[in-house]
Formats: sequence, C-alpha cells, structure tokens
Amino acid sequence: MEQIMQYRQIGKTGKKASVIGLGCEHLDRKPYEQVKETIDAALAHDVNLFDVFMPGEEIRDHIVKALGNRRKDIMIQGHIGATDINQQYDISRDLPTVKKYFEALLRKFGYIDFGMLFFIDSEEDYKGVFETGFVTYVEQLKKQGDIHHIGFSSHSPVTAMKVIETGVPEMMLFSINPAFDMLPAEYYVFDYSEKGFGSDLFRGIDPKRAELYRICTQKQIGITVMKAFGATKLLSAEHTPYAQPLTVHQCIHYALSRPAVASVLPGCQTAAQMHDVMQYFSVDDRKKDYAEVLSRVRNDFKGSCVYCSHCQPCPVEIDIAAIHRLLDTARLDLEHISASMQMEYAALAHASCVECGHCEVRCPFGVPVIQNVKEAEVLLG
Ligand code: SF4
Ligand code: SF4
Repeated sequence: MEQIMQYRQIGKTGKKASVIGLGCEHLDRKPYEQVKETIDAALAHDVNLFDVFMPGEEIRDHIVKALGNRRKDIMIQGHIGATDINQQYDISRDLPTVKKYFEALLRKFGYIDFGMLFFIDSEEDYKGVFETGFVTYVEQLKKQGDIHHIGFSSHSPVTAMKVIETGVPEMMLFSINPAFDMLPAEYYVFDYSEKGFGSDLFRGIDPKRAELYRICTQKQIGITVMKAFGATKLLSAEHTPYAQPLTVHQCIHYALSRPAVASVLPGCQTAAQMHDVMQYFSVDDRKKDYAEVLSRVRNDFKGSCVYCSHCQPCPVEIDIAAIHRLLDTARLDLEHISASMQMEYAALAHASCVECGHCEVRCPFGVPVIQNVKEAEVLLG
C-alpha cells in the first residue's frame, strides 16, 4: 500500500500525530475480529493516534490483543475519569474510582501517551478536576512517567479556555465540525447533536470558538478532533442543517483547516470505513471544499476567514488560508507576537500580493484579503 499519511506536531508536546487517527468508541461491544480488522487497517494506513476513552474491560482487552507487539507504533489518548459503573458510561471525579479505572487502563497498555482529563464541559466539571485532588493525581502520573503528556477533553469553548488558562494541559480533544462551530457558544452542542440543528440557529462561525482555536495556536495547545461528522448528521440528507449534506472528506478537511488542529479521529468501526476515510489523501481538492455549503447560511460575521481555501489559486502562490490563520492569532495579542509565528510566516515562501483581486471575487465570505495580506506582512514579516 502506498504510504501517504501526513503528520502534524501536537502543540508543544513535541509528538507528531497522523492527521487522521482512530476514535475507538464505536468498536466498543463489537466482536474481536471486527476490532482487529479495523485496527489492522488503521495501522496499514500509518495511523499512529488512537483515542481510547471506553472504560469497559472487554474493548480494552480487544485493542491490546489486536495491537500485539505494535503498541509502540501508536500513541494512545487515555481518559482519566471515564467509568462504567453498572455497565453505563459515566464521568467520575471521585478519586478512588478514577484511580481504579485509569490504573486498569495503564496496566493493559503499559503507559499512556496522552492522559486526558475527561469531559470538562461545565463549571462543575472544572471544579471537580481543578479544585480537588484530581489534578494533583494526574500531575503525579506524569511525574512518574505513567502518562507522557496531560491533555483534556471538552465540548465547550468557554470552559476549554478556562482549562487552558490553568497552564496544566498541553493538548486538547475537542468536538469540531461546521455545525458546532456555527452554534453560538452559549448553546451546548449535545442539546443539538441529538435532536438536530436548525439552520436558523446559525449566524456564521461563532467568535468564541474561533477565539479558542487562536488561543490554542498562541499557547501551543495541540487539538485533536472528535465528532468531526456531527454524529453523522452532517453527512445525512435528512438531518443536515445545510442546503446539502457534507461528505466525510469535507468534514475532515474542515477540521484539519482549523488553527492548532493536529489530527482528526473518526470513529471507524470496520476496515472498509477506515479505507474510505483514507481516500481523503487521494480525492480531488474540489471534493474537500466546504465553502459553498457553508456560504449558503446566514452569516452575521461576514468578513472573517473560515480557512477554506476556496479563494485559491493565487497567481503568486500565496497560501491565503494559512496566512489568515496566522494573522488571526497575531491579532489576539499585538504586543506579543511570538518568534515561532514569525518563523511560520517566513516558512510560507511567497511573493508579494499583486492585488489582482481574484481571491476577493472567489471568497464567499467577503474577506478583505488584500488588506489582510498586507497587515500580515506588517505584523509577521
Ligand atoms: S489579490 Fe493578492 S492574494 Fe489575492 S489572488 Fe491576487 S495576488 Fe493572490
Ligand atoms: S479568504 Fe475566503 S475563500 Fe479564502 S480561505 Fe478565507 S474564507 Fe476561504
């Protein structure tokens, strides 16, 4: 099989993740043979990041057995605080319970690459982790080498920003798809992912979510992505909130275009699904373009770049989306533009904008590209 996987650094962890990973959730309660064929397919495609949040003994055993001596070839996001008391998935902040479940995971996998503070969405979740012995326990796990990095998972942009402010995590698992990104930050994504989104809710990419991604870039918090297909609702003609469903590859491309994102973790449950997802690397760029679909909803934030690259090609080969990702991060704190951002800008080898205006005609979101490209040169050049 041709090796085509791409890799990205996960923020400041120094670890490189395959841009497509595997969320193992949907392998839960599946026969061992199915788990094995899916994991074999992932490894054959050079996937090196697995999310294992499931607290159940059987699925953990299946994954360990399917990996065999290939454990060292992959990195695992293991979640601290995921339990299945009474066979139900649950979240616990009770330290003896948390330890029992996490240490069972540690024993099976030997070590955990990314020890994830599990499911921090509400103020109560935040307090249960950061105002108790929970966080001290996790920091101790890292000191002992049982976990190599501390991460966390969240679905709330406001709470996620608060967690990042503590300075404890180095990376984050966050739910990202166009519908969630258009949901105003004060709405909770789970209230809508079950009953469906109404497009009347959407006003454009929510500024709080956009700010979260920029803060992650600024603080080098790498993002791994869950729910990229919105529990498959975005793929379905019946449930999509847009004029037409998105494809798997458009959803992956959307997530990978957000600032700070290192890897998207689709919940494949068969080898065939894994192979389908991997077509991302071979389909035509036009098939990944999500701009047309998004541009048909109401947009109160017109003028903000959604990093879709619909404006390309540029005659002097300026990567307009990449420049906007950097510019938006630089604008967060004009007094402290980091050397790494300037280096990233310099690495985007390009000539000066010749102001031909092609990009502005093609951009469905009314972004003043020429003005922004000039501003980027002043701030980052
Ligand atoms: S206006 Fe500038 S950035 Fe836009 S396509 Fe022309 S040269 Fe490229
Ligand atoms: S300028 Fe417009 S078309 Fe280009 S990447 Fe940004 S939003 Fe997309």
